[in-house]
Amino acid sequence: MSEEIRVRFAPSPTGYLHVGGARTALFNWLWARKTGGKFVLRIEDTDEARSTVESVNGMLHDLKWLGLDWDEGPEYGDGIDPYKQQKGDKGPYFQSQRLEIYQKIAHELMDKGIAYPCFCTDEELEEKRKKAEEEHRSVHYDGTCRNLTKEEAQRRIDAGEPYTIRVRVPQKDYVLEDEVRGRVEWKAGTLGDFIILRSSGMPVYNFCVVVDDALMGITHVVRAEEHLTNTHRQLILYEALGMKPPRFSHASLILGPDKSKLSKRHGATSVGQYAEEGFLPEAMINFLALLGWNEGNDREIYSVKELIECFELSHISKSPGVFDKDKLVWMNGQHLRAMPVDELIPLVAPLLKKAMPDDKRLDDPVIMHKLVELIQVKMTLLTDAPEVAKTFFEASEPENDEARAMIETEKSKKLFEALAAEFEKCEWVREGYNASIKAASKIAEVKGKDLYMPIRVKITGSCHGPELVGILDVLGREETIARLKK
Ligand code: GLU
Repeated sequence: MSEEIRVRFAPSPTGYLHVGGARTALFNWLWARKTGGKFVLRIEDTDEARSTVESVNGMLHDLKWLGLDWDEGPEYGDGIDPYKQQKGDKGPYFQSQRLEIYQKIAHELMDKGIAYPCFCTDEELEEKRKKAEEEHRSVHYDGTCRNLTKEEAQRRIDAGEPYTIRVRVPQKDYVLEDEVRGRVEWKAGTLGDFIILRSSGMPVYNFCVVVDDALMGITHVVRAEEHLTNTHRQLILYEALGMKPPRFSHASLILGPDKSKLSKRHGATSVGQYAEEGFLPEAMINFLALLGWNEGNDREIYSVKELIECFELSHISKSPGVFDKDKLVWMNGQHLRAMPVDELIPLVAPLLKKAMPDDKRLDDPVIMHKLVELIQVKMTLLTDAPEVAKTFFEASEPENDEARAMIETEKSKKLFEALAAEFEKCEWVREGYNASIKAASKIAEVKGKDLYMPIRVKITGSCHGPELVGILDVLGREETIARLKK
């Protein structure tokens, strides 16, 4: 039986979910969904000073908005405390709740001699570092406590001397076959014995990551390139634990349009901000996927389902992705206009009702459906809806001189008068509109372009837009006649 694929997203909750984090989450999620594996969410909150509950909630909220559901990890929802309610049998999924696990394992490594207690004080270590620097020697830990006898070490522990736990770093080369970056090598001697547990009992970051990935059965680690240097220590720790390391994929950084590392300077970088600006999660997912991954062709539009089908770790690109907001806007328009109207209505209706709170027509589901159908073709962002819909709710002046000239001819005036009279008595359905237009066209003696264009401009102010009969559906009889008579 082939192994079950288990991946994880392991954010540090020190801020909002940014574009880079969301992309990491997405790549892992896609790989799990493609392979039928498990996507684990682990919160790396051992940095007590910087981790906040708000950040945890914000990240869970934004992941959910994106549709990146997790199989194991903290629960999220109304009235749920994610610290208390968690799903999966390999938890807890907050590192702050796993301190005893790290401490126990660090001590086990110490008992086996794979790690050892170090009694050097901060002052002594600082002194050693300075001296080594002056003498142009390597600043690695010099191994003072490495060869203490077991008895000596135990005597000092029993005497209550504070100590850290250091892992013995084997003096040999380490090689990583990264799925994205290829072969990466670290030469023997580039690292000294490093601390895994501080004297306060707090574990260090790389130790927590390895213990968790090992105990949670993670088979593939997909993360950003900035973690590549940590991998050296992590490989040493896997070996110390006697565990097989997962396969690693380090995705390239995301750059801003000016080719420097993406940051706040480049505008919004938080996922929540994009949600507020009116972007669709589907468009965001499509855009994030292509920031550092492609199928090997220049295809740009994917549904989430298509991404799951096409995604391969080996196609994560070695070169950095460039964040181009104009492209995101364009993609959003593509996704938005391709959406079924029934799915768009619940997203757009609250925005319309907020912009036009007194308009009773919005309470009629038939009108709402027709309205959304009409404005959809003109929208790029969800937040465009009220502006686009205004055409239907407020009579606008002709958009330019040409349009104005069109409605000011004698024939046009006659046409509007006749049409208003026909509309008064016709049945307010499409057949009725068409019959009325035909009758008015005879009375005013106009046809073709001189017939439809002036009507459109008189009613909407614009020479362009959705089909006329759709506009009439939404406007209703009273409003249409009032505009023709104005
Ligand atoms: N907690 C780390 C971060 O938020 C991720 C660690 C990892 O993926 O190994 O950057």
